Amino acid sequence: MTDPQLATALIHHPYRAPAEWDAIPTGVFKASTVFFPNVAAMRERRWIDKSAYTYGLKGTPTTFTLEARLATLEGAEHLMLVPSGLAAIMLIDLAVLKTGDAVLLPDNAYGPSMSLAQHELRHWGITHQVYDPMDVASLSAALTPATRLVWLEAAGSVTMEFPDLRALIRCVRREAPQALIAIDHTWGAGLAFKPFALGAGDEDLAVDFTAHALTKYPSGGGDVLLGSVGCRDRRLHDQLAWCHARLGLGVGVDDVAAVLRGLPTLPLRYAAQDQAARRIASWAQGRAEVARVLHPALPDSPGHAHWAALCTQAAGIFSIEMQPGYSQAQVDAFVDALKLFRIGWSWAGPVSLVVPYEVSTMRRLPTPYRGALVRLCIGLEDVDDLIADLDQALARLSD
Ligand SMILES: *Cc1c(COP(=O)(O)O)cnc(C)c1O
Repeated sequence: MTDPQLATALIHHPYRAPAEWDAIPTGVFKASTVFFPNVAAMRERRWIDKSAYTYGLKGTPTTFTLEARLATLEGAEHLMLVPSGLAAIMLIDLAVLKTGDAVLLPDNAYGPSMSLAQHELRHWGITHQVYDPMDVASLSAALTPATRLVWLEAAGSVTMEFPDLRALIRCVRREAPQALIAIDHTWGAGLAFKPFALGAGDEDLAVDFTAHALTKYPSGGGDVLLGSVGCRDRRLHDQLAWCHARLGLGVGVDDVAAVLRGLPTLPLRYAAQDQAARRIASWAQGRAEVARVLHPALPDSPGHAHWAALCTQAAGIFSIEMQPGYSQAQVDAFVDALKLFRIGWSWAGPVSLVVPYEVSTMRRLPTPYRGALVRLCIGLEDVDDLIADLDQALARLSD
């Protein structure tokens, strides 16, 4: 071949960077197309066990690296990235459930997970039942031969109950051996407890799947939407991986790099936000405006004994039940008066967040709460400044 023209030379260039590059960050490898040296390699390469690259959607060095590190964090054998925490929940539902199956959700499940069951899953002929996560008999009563998937969540969404995970898993294994168990592992973040190693002593007690909103702790920056699904079993992994491939659940590699950057500080941030949240929760307990503080590390919080049996750490998130005498408008005014706590969804970033909830409208089973709930997610600000902010906003309630 004669020397190529410039347009061609700028694309098909002979220079190859040396292979020995080694540095702290993982390379940000971007590609849809991945080249094969020859047709035989194209036919032979396997993406499903991550032994090779075939196409950007099926993995890059950047995504495989984060997947391997997160598998270590969670104690999973296999792990797959998806575009959000909710997509992780969806992938498990879609990979496992078919028409005629039933899925069980705790009454305090992450709201959009419940909504998926109420809409798309129902339209596809998949039924769902709700159980009380604090009552193993309620789970037992909801299990049927059609139950194919049971969701767990610890701590529960907004009301922060910590269930007896061991008892719930034992109940499913004993009474519905055909069912698989998935946990929304966002709160625990791979640190508070190990969902694939829950047995006391040498008992093998584990969930089948973890769904994790990397959007929260692993990112820690409030700038990424990403999720993951972990599992132990090779066959279940392949089932998930094929469903993942057919759904085309690609992730942006810049987001993956952002989580790789945040991961080394994950244990430090988790511990710092835990300590800060516990100080603020204890302070809130002493306030006359507050009826109850819902934080699993507090002795009178629902499921505290179950938390204590499994964990020493907790996520930096809790809810306060306001005295029932306050109207929703007064509680909203308290939330509006906060200056450092910003009103917004998500959590585990640098900024403390607040959301008021009318919990009676969110649950199907009766709840014991009479006052409005306010959820506080503790960021990385100075704790005394956060307490002063809550103090000045609570003062509005007596205006
Ligand atoms: C935020 C969250 C999710 C969903 O994560 P996204 O990335 O926002 O979709 C799922 N479960 C829990 C417990 C969460 O807090």
